[in-house]
Amino acid sequence: MRADFKPISIDKVEIQDDFWTEFIDLVRQEVIPYQWKAINDMILDAPKSHAIQNLKIAGNLAEGEFHGFVFQDSDVYKWLEAVGYSLTTHADPELEALADSVVDIIAKAQQPDGYINSHFTAAKPNMRWTNLKDWHELYCAGHFFEAAASYYQATGKRKILELACRFADYIQQVFGDNPDQIPGYPGHEEIELALVKLYQVTNDQRYLDLSKYFIQRRGQKPHYFDIESDKRGEKPVQDYRYHQAHLPVREQTTAEGHAVRAVYLYAGLADIAYYTNDKDLLDTCLRLWKNVVNRRMYITGGIGSSAHLECFTFDYDLPNNTAYTETCASIGLIFWAHRMLKLQQNSEYADILELALYNGVISGMSLDGKRFFYVNPLEVWPEAAEKRYDHKHVRVTRQSWFGCACCPPNLARLLASLGGYIYALVNESELYTHLYIGGSASVEIAGKQFIIKQDSKLPWEGKVCLNLELPSEIEFTLALRIPVWCSCPTVKINGTAVDIHEITDNGYAKIRRTWNNNDRIELDFPMEVKRIRANPKVRYNRGKTALKRGPIVYCLEQADNGDNLHSLILSQNDEVKVAYNKQLLNGVSVIIADGMREIDNWEDVLYKANFREETIRTKLLFIPYFAWANRESGEMLVWVRSC
Ligand code: ZN
Repeated sequence: MRADFKPISIDKVEIQDDFWTEFIDLVRQEVIPYQWKAINDMILDAPKSHAIQNLKIAGNLAEGEFHGFVFQDSDVYKWLEAVGYSLTTHADPELEALADSVVDIIAKAQQPDGYINSHFTAAKPNMRWTNLKDWHELYCAGHFFEAAASYYQATGKRKILELACRFADYIQQVFGDNPDQIPGYPGHEEIELALVKLYQVTNDQRYLDLSKYFIQRRGQKPHYFDIESDKRGEKPVQDYRYHQAHLPVREQTTAEGHAVRAVYLYAGLADIAYYTNDKDLLDTCLRLWKNVVNRRMYITGGIGSSAHLECFTFDYDLPNNTAYTETCASIGLIFWAHRMLKLQQNSEYADILELALYNGVISGMSLDGKRFFYVNPLEVWPEAAEKRYDHKHVRVTRQSWFGCACCPPNLARLLASLGGYIYALVNESELYTHLYIGGSASVEIAGKQFIIKQDSKLPWEGKVCLNLELPSEIEFTLALRIPVWCSCPTVKINGTAVDIHEITDNGYAKIRRTWNNNDRIELDFPMEVKRIRANPKVRYNRGKTALKRGPIVYCLEQADNGDNLHSLILSQNDEVKVAYNKQLLNGVSVIIADGMREIDNWEDVLYKANFREETIRTKLLFIPYFAWANRESGEMLVWVRSC
């Protein structure tokens, strides 16, 4: 039987953290206002979004034609969702009024039967649900449901929730196995996890059932995508893997196809496995999880090795310089990991969540919150990125906005809701700490409310201090995650060391006792620099080493090490030095290592016989991967040759 798992929600958590507060403030002060301008076409040097205008046209509030991608509405919904989280932690009447005005526009765009989608209402009124594979109607609906749940929870205003429920009720009538229903499922998953959020706020079992229906139908034969393409007079689908429809979901063993779609689906699977106590679906999740993290994930928590189809490829195929590793895919991995934690309180999931968060996710945003990466490669040679067709997805500098603007709003909604990932209450009596992020949380156990305060020096030092502010003594279990990157953790309660060996279970040190007011728990997670090697089956990383310290993956950048980073060799045995530099990149710890540089004295020939490179000794300076490309543009390298 699964445990009852309740994350301590963002309205109960306040983040005050030397590292994360800055990112969250950027989302509030830069990203959300910028997104607002973007969806309203107020940014002159960015491609026009038309997103708000499209909804106005669909609602007869404006005249004109629909413009943009079929999924353009989803940009508005992601903005609304992020606004909901942001209002939960920081009241802002002006922002709330803006959001209310958007809800009013959506209300006008809603059709009498409950349907909402500006593309179909304004541009293709007779073509609803005729191409589930490509046209993102259910995807957009999913983002609307997530926005509705977030905004309703933030404000208590029911209007958006009622719009969402009417739409979901309509979808529930349209889809199903009765003869007058559509036995289909979306080409881009998202609605599966979103319906679960709608269930969480309404307690309406039908939404859970509908999510389960979409999951159950996927991959069944005859393939629904072929049925609908036949009706359109088109050829059958060539490869069902792109949409994770190659097999019924329960028979899938490897992560396939478009990486973002895949992890959104897997997050939905984990949700349904949790709420319906479905052991078989849990086993599916476990198989897919193992395949991703043991064979198909980059050291940065990035996923998706191929730009072509933005997809997973095959086991151990993790090229560094052509990696796709979309920011959204790492964010989706976090959504999935968090749901896996609900199913099994095993620190492995929180470790991956933390890894993706500190590396492959925040690398997607510049340190000033103004520019974004869609693709997060692990090696960049600027000339190749500029001139090679197969590197054309790689950008050397972050961009201000994208025509297909999925990543920046996704980052905004994740960071604005980060507080909800830190703690969870399991079986009403065990308080889990998954992430070490400073601030405070309000918790209730055995009918007693109390505050847990956290002071964390992560990611630069492994020192964490927890303080309990209790109204009176309370007996409960505090389950402290022991990070996978720490080899010799220590825990002290009120200054006295606790032997955690005996009490560590699935990566959590579980301390059960009667806690008193002002009890203080000190955690020390020493952070030595780890020299990471990749499984030898990852051909691209043979003879190479990556440096990691705590949760942070490091890289070399041209700004510190000159060009031709491929000529640098890291010495394996020499000591490395760690130094915190307050001036650099908003304050980061750098790693200085001994190494060598091969001398290029080749002149104008391509090949030489029996030649041995000469080397000179040099220092290598590594910066955190997430902070690369915040100075002058140049080369970058995570996996470095080593000897
Ligand atoms: Zn994206």
